[in-house]
Amino acid sequence: MSKTIKKVGVLTSGGDSPGMNAAIRSVVRTCAYHNIECIGIYRGYQGMIEGDFKEMGPRSVNNIVNKGGTILKSARSVDFRTPEGRKKAHENLLKAGIDALVVIGGDGSFTGGLIFNSEYDFPVMGIPGTIDNDIYGTSFTLGYDTALNTVVDCIDKIRDTASSHNRLFFVEVMGRDAGHIALNAGIGAGAEEILIPEEDLGLDRLLDSLQKSKASGKSSSIVVIAEGDKIGKNVFELKDYVEANLPEYDVRVSVLGHMQRGGSPSCFDRVLASRLGVKAVESLIEGKSNYMVGLKEDKVVLTPLEQAIKGKSEIDRELLRVSDIMST
Ligand code: ATP
Repeated sequence: MSKTIKKVGVLTSGGDSPGMNAAIRSVVRTCAYHNIECIGIYRGYQGMIEGDFKEMGPRSVNNIVNKGGTILKSARSVDFRTPEGRKKAHENLLKAGIDALVVIGGDGSFTGGLIFNSEYDFPVMGIPGTIDNDIYGTSFTLGYDTALNTVVDCIDKIRDTASSHNRLFFVEVMGRDAGHIALNAGIGAGAEEILIPEEDLGLDRLLDSLQKSKASGKSSSIVVIAEGDKIGKNVFELKDYVEANLPEYDVRVSVLGHMQRGGSPSCFDRVLASRLGVKAVESLIEGKSNYMVGLKEDKVVLTPLEQAIKGKSEIDRELLRVSDIMST
């Protein structure tokens, strides 16, 4: 028999993403709904090691559903990677009477949670919070939808300049290992070509596509490039390469950077965060541990943390074809 949960600790860890606050709010209010205490743990696992805790009630999360970032702050904790750090964290949790954890973060944060559970048999539930959407077991991670909207909005603005000056723009978006943002925002913003980590488009095809687009009467174009695109050149090297081979093009580069991680979460992310928070707390109450809550076919589902960490979130290859057809 699993023991009754009386006090849940919630933390945000790794890179922040829009929707983390809405998830904190959901965890806190679900705890209150079920008459369970909730403790906010500041700065991820580092705050666990330092005992940086604060009691949270339903009124302590007023007016945060609309805010980007995380009110609990986030951190990457080197100390938590050591057995000594995790021992200290465990002692602090026991001292505070916390008997279960909700970890909002990416696969690194889940790995930390899983190791902690294996050492101390401490109940852990994960909520996927990262704009990259690169986590197995959910079709959407918190912040991904907001990031897509931010990127599309930026590219729309860049397009105004591109079309006024007949220019080619290379826009670099986040995604070292996953092309979800590039692919979806690229299609949404009407990109000519989209370069992603999962697929080697090849430099010849890029040149060919740009030549064709000029010949077809397009006077300006946008190419969306994920940070980790498989061609292996960074966005500035690509600009040099294209200008050397297609001198008729005047290429400008825009690296969107951290603005993609910020901002008020979209309605989709707020609803997702609310649903995932409820499921995370209620699963802990049911005695479950070592799962990640996620959304599949519009149903909130549980995936073992181990699978969420090891599994690969694949891009939808049909989107590559759609993108090809759209750039005709
Ligand atoms: P993002 O997707 O934004 O990178 P993430 O959760 O993957 O988010 P990481 O920096 O990889 O971010 O991990 C967050 C924290 O989780 C680390 O700083 C560390 O404290 C903990 N962590 C990660 N891997 C381990 C591990 N192998 N052992 C113990 N703790 C870990």
